Amino acid sequence: MLEKARKIQEQLVAWRRDFHMHPELGFQEHRTAKIVAETLEEMGLRVETGVGITGVVGYLGEGSPVVGIRADMDALPLQEANHIPYASQNPGVMHACGHDAHTAILLGTARLLSEMPDRPPGEVRFLFQPSEEEWDEELKSGATRMIDDGALEGVDSVIALHVDDDVPAGQIEVDEGYGSAAVDAFIATITGQGAHGAYPHESVDPTFILAQVINAIHGIRARRVNPIRSAVISIGAIHAGKTTNVIPEEVEIMGTIRSFDDETRAQLSEELEKAFAVSRAFGGDYTLTIERGFPGMYNDPAVVKIIHQTAVDLLGADAVKPGEVGMGAEDFSYMMQKAPGAMFGLGVKIDETPRPSHSPTFDLNEEALPVGVAIFAEAACRLLKGTGG
Ligand SMILES: [Zn+2]
Ligand SMILES: [Zn+2]
Repeated sequence: MLEKARKIQEQLVAWRRDFHMHPELGFQEHRTAKIVAETLEEMGLRVETGVGITGVVGYLGEGSPVVGIRADMDALPLQEANHIPYASQNPGVMHACGHDAHTAILLGTARLLSEMPDRPPGEVRFLFQPSEEEWDEELKSGATRMIDDGALEGVDSVIALHVDDDVPAGQIEVDEGYGSAAVDAFIATITGQGAHGAYPHESVDPTFILAQVINAIHGIRARRVNPIRSAVISIGAIHAGKTTNVIPEEVEIMGTIRSFDDETRAQLSEELEKAFAVSRAFGGDYTLTIERGFPGMYNDPAVVKIIHQTAVDLLGADAVKPGEVGMGAEDFSYMMQKAPGAMFGLGVKIDETPRPSHSPTFDLNEEALPVGVAIFAEAACRLLKGTGG
């Protein structure tokens, strides 16, 4: 399978560079979606467009089981700083998270599987997802929009990959269990009583209350959450006052709340409420809003086992490492709530120069493209067969 994938390397690079030159932001992937849909149709797949606003679904084969493979297509609002022939031609927009490669890899996978005469029975569903990085006005990202439109109906397992700029090309990272965090945001206001800065006793100083509340917030992770559970609360913004001699009326504070499991997630919200309630003990008051974001991404052990074995067979045991777990977010987690699934990290490191994702100098090693294709295609066949070998 790796050999077959390497034979289409030129095509993979051409697709990836074309998407890289013409990046589009979340829910605006019109050009990308059009190319994806036309290419899938040329391969003989049944294609649905406008799934989840700008998403595309390709159907190959019929019956059960149904294996879903997902690629996200959106870019980021960044100005590319790389001087490369295929640099972004869309000012202020850049594929800085590698979704151009994800899209090209999934097209390559569709090509390989569609040209396979002995493909196992069942359906492979190619899920080209819009807007992984952005939410719409209803706080829904691309995965949720596609699920709302029924793209995951009947899917028995679902797989995806994400490029990893820390891992050499030719290696992958995969591990069972949580791979990315549940992400919630909090937005709060602490209210007091303003006064002249010279007469603090006539105020209920919200910045003084804030100091107590911050202490209580940082105590949640340290003193309230079971130390073996993962959790973090970070404050991202604080706004109060305008000048030197006026004690302000109120303070605004916001931040991010991250965890893996549902129990810890719920506990963090409850504890945050208690931390803000400290305001009342000091004569102030507060409002607290918690916006719920992506759930934690749970890599299903059975699906991971198949991807792991596939990668070992294709690349050798030394090329397959356990994933490094972080508290980042990934909206593929919504799809994994619909069907058991797994996401693996595809090594795309070029050399020792750091090219971190979400930075204007991000770039990836195109040698990794056929590796992604081969693992997707082979793992899909094994999932269709329902076996690890
Ligand atoms: Zn990203
Ligand atoms: Zn990404």
